[in-house]
Amino acid sequence: MRHALHVLTDELRRLKASGVKTVHVPDETLAALRQALRTERGERKAESGKNEGNAPKAETTAAPVGKIAPEIVTSEPPKVYSTLRAPLSASRSPSLLPPPPVFTLPEGDRATRWAWLRDRVLGDPVCCAHVRPGKKVVFGVGRIDAQIMFVGEAPGADEEVQGEPFVGPAGQLLTRMIQAMGLQRQQVYIGNIMNWRPELPPGPDGRQYGNREPTEEEMTYCLPYLRAQIDVIGPTILVALGSTASKGLLGMRAFKTLGEVRGRWHEYCGRPLMVTYHPSYLLRKEAESKLGERRAKRAAWEDFLLVMQRAGVPISDKQRGYFLDK
Ligand code: URA
Repeated sequence: MRHALHVLTDELRRLKASGVKTVHVPDETLAALRQALRTERGERKAESGKNEGNAPKAETTAAPVGKIAPEIVTSEPPKVYSTLRAPLSASRSPSLLPPPPVFTLPEGDRATRWAWLRDRVLGDPVCCAHVRPGKKVVFGVGRIDAQIMFVGEAPGADEEVQGEPFVGPAGQLLTRMIQAMGLQRQQVYIGNIMNWRPELPPGPDGRQYGNREPTEEEMTYCLPYLRAQIDVIGPTILVALGSTASKGLLGMRAFKTLGEVRGRWHEYCGRPLMVTYHPSYLLRKEAESKLGERRAKRAAWEDFLLVMQRAGVPISDKQRGYFLDK
């Protein structure tokens, strides 16, 4: 139930940041939520022996709002993955995608659940319908009990060919940064908010050139799949790469510039979330100037040092000094 409350709180925050003021909920659902909060509070107290001043945010945020979507709050198990959707305002274009998937993970060990989820995503009719011929839906990759999970925005040209996140130039830089942490790519988990490459109109030769950011609607569609991956993997630390991924997790209007949230700890699904630059941004800086590259990489590296520190990864003096001016 605690997790369901975290999920709910995250969604309410996202909606609030998106400008949604009211979410309508039947009275009986509200009563069920209040009961769940009371139970949760009791369990917390029993566990920690602390007073209610230390109650989790889920309680203080969700209770006064008192409005919740019926499909999120369910008895446990099974947990239902879904996404609350903001009602479309008159100024927004009508939905082009069906509602986000609603599903529950099967019983079983981590490997079974991960494999089931992977099959589910790779076979999702909406994901498949958006993938051009010969290209692939992209699911997360890495250690299925990883402590650290990186979250990017969406596959690009290389990823949709190989069916693996972060394998193009940005991915290679990410891999090098993971290695600079003293880890191997296989020791962490890497996923994206979105599971297909956002479409652009094809050029005269029928091929797609360039990438575009996923829309809010596209991210909303895929988010239950990312959440389920977080639950299956159970990372102790999440790292959002870049503005789009961070908006997908923190809310579309949670910040204007990445600088407002970068380099600080946030929370997603009850887990600590570090926001840092997207490796593509670092590559763009590389192309601009040596000084700009160094500064941006140092800033990103400082975020990685915070992640290492929190994850208990040993940090050498040499590592502490990466990208510092000599
Ligand atoms: N950029 C992303 O955000 N994700 C990828 O998988 C590749 C590039």
